Amino acid sequence: MSDRHATDVTRAAIAEMAASLPMHDQQDVDDATRGFIARSAQRQITTEDGRPVWDLDAYEFMRGTEAAPTANPSLWRQGQLLIEDGLFEVVPGIYQLRGFDLSVMSVIEGDTGVIVIDPLISAEAAAAAFALYTEHRGERPVTAMIYTHSHADHFGGVKGIISDEQVAAGEVEVIAPEGFLHHAIAENVFAGTAMLRRAGYMYGAALERGPAGQIGAGLGQTTSTGTVSLIAPTVDITHTGQRMTIDGVEIEFQVTPGTEAPAEMNFYFPQHRALCTAENTSHTLHNILTIRGALVRDPHAWAHYLTETIDLWGDQLDVVFASHHWPTWGRERAVEFLAMQRDMYLYLHDQTLRMLNQGLTGPEIAEVLEMPPSLEAQWHTHGYYGSVSHNVKAVYQRYMGWYDANPANLWPHPPEAAATRYVAAMGGRDGALAVARQAWDDGDYRWCAEVGKHLVFADDNDAEARGILADALEQLGFGAENGTWRNAFLAGATELRSGAFGTPATTSPDLLTSLTVSQVFDSVAVRVDGPRAWDEHILIAWEILDEDLTYLTELRNGALHHRTVDNPSEGVTTFTLTRASLIGAVTGTLDLGAALEDGTVTIDGDPEALGRLVGLLAPVDPDFNIVTP
Ligand SMILES: [Zn+2]
Repeated sequence: MSDRHATDVTRAAIAEMAASLPMHDQQDVDDATRGFIARSAQRQITTEDGRPVWDLDAYEFMRGTEAAPTANPSLWRQGQLLIEDGLFEVVPGIYQLRGFDLSVMSVIEGDTGVIVIDPLISAEAAAAAFALYTEHRGERPVTAMIYTHSHADHFGGVKGIISDEQVAAGEVEVIAPEGFLHHAIAENVFAGTAMLRRAGYMYGAALERGPAGQIGAGLGQTTSTGTVSLIAPTVDITHTGQRMTIDGVEIEFQVTPGTEAPAEMNFYFPQHRALCTAENTSHTLHNILTIRGALVRDPHAWAHYLTETIDLWGDQLDVVFASHHWPTWGRERAVEFLAMQRDMYLYLHDQTLRMLNQGLTGPEIAEVLEMPPSLEAQWHTHGYYGSVSHNVKAVYQRYMGWYDANPANLWPHPPEAAATRYVAAMGGRDGALAVARQAWDDGDYRWCAEVGKHLVFADDNDAEARGILADALEQLGFGAENGTWRNAFLAGATELRSGAFGTPATTSPDLLTSLTVSQVFDSVAVRVDGPRAWDEHILIAWEILDEDLTYLTELRNGALHHRTVDNPSEGVTTFTLTRASLIGAVTGTLDLGAALEDGTVTIDGDPEALGRLVGLLAPVDPDFNIVTP
């Protein structure tokens, strides 16, 4: 990697862009280091068996250095702020652990113990961060855990801090916005495998760190790769204005469903005059649609809730903090920060719709929409994580879908069929390669990547084609201000040069064990191999002991649907078991034969019905191709 270099064209583009950056504004440097108490002496975080989870020194090459020529200086600066790791005091009684993961963990001190907010992605990372807190602030029992929203970087590390037993014994409340558990799990049921593979591109966890490699993801440096855990909430926050006092700490809540996450909330600590905005504000333009893939978010609702936040607490704030990045202190600055973030999402939404109603399509709007100079002059509105370009396309998609109404785009050939035709039209492989080379020489890396893509999809064994596509993607990565774009471009280049890196390893058994019965059947249904199942008709009843409900699953016409029934019809095979056993049977962690023998699972009817259904399920592929056909 180290011999990779930016071309003159890329350097010139970077220099031109850098000239417009508000380099005189150093406030973030003060804020990212303010209240610093200590760094952790434990710099390498691993699993129990020694697998690396997080390296606090991975980005030391960036500390105190000018941006490398192979990096956008704005993204470099963001990375430098994000590697200010350690324990920080926000205000007396409120502390943050930063730099231990993609996200930030906050600790609120109560009369006898502490409230922990958002325990990172991995149990190992959360435990290491909390150990630093304990080392400097003393051993205090955890009295409550708050999840601000339903994304894994805000709950996955929970078991590094508290246990199921403590929650069951009533020692710790687990507080989350209503709908948290459903959404935390649902995101993983339908498209989880593909999202994780794509997340490897977006966060660059498998990429080499270095000036010509991974330098961050804008929201945090990257994702930790330890054990993702989950403990279900014991308290739902259902409405704005809801209040709680925990261990002497007063909290007022604002629910913000359908913003950055489907279940999310902001909350205010009146005794500290401090506001936690979850992930509704951050020091970046966030995603309306993340490039790992997701349902499109609603920037209109997002902006509306931020207005409500300002109305609720704007006149009584001393500091606003969140679960990524550093806080903003001072009432005026904090309110202006909230208002700027609000304006940013609203402007993107409204201006995309203005142009959409003038007939422009997503890619066209993305190319011409400019943010107001007053917003561009703020660092926190820059697109380190979301980008104006892909957010505009997301707004278009939210209202219009994938189709731009031009019927020439209604039924085009798919990528491989199109590629062979494009390559032929350019005079065959050598002609197309000449076009790609010309684009490279002209510094038009977007066109070079487009032609290179067709060459590789026409023949993925063509080493020269793979090489020039990788080179073009790499230059696009070097120039990108957006961390997720840089990671995606460099991930593509890496896989073209040295083969697929697959999905970076994580384990998350708790997500599976939290599935509802209905989600279990949904997750099975999306694995049915349609054509092989066309002619099958399989009925199975499932008496779920701990829910006192009987479900009927029916496969017909290749579709597996389920519903609850009072009594399954005569002759239908019926399994009687708990929800946990059902999950075990589906995920392969329960030995069904042994369970039938010891009576954990009982069966009435022909057991072959299940064997036939299981035989129709297709495996998922966590290593599917992306930059090659
Ligand atoms: Zn997050």
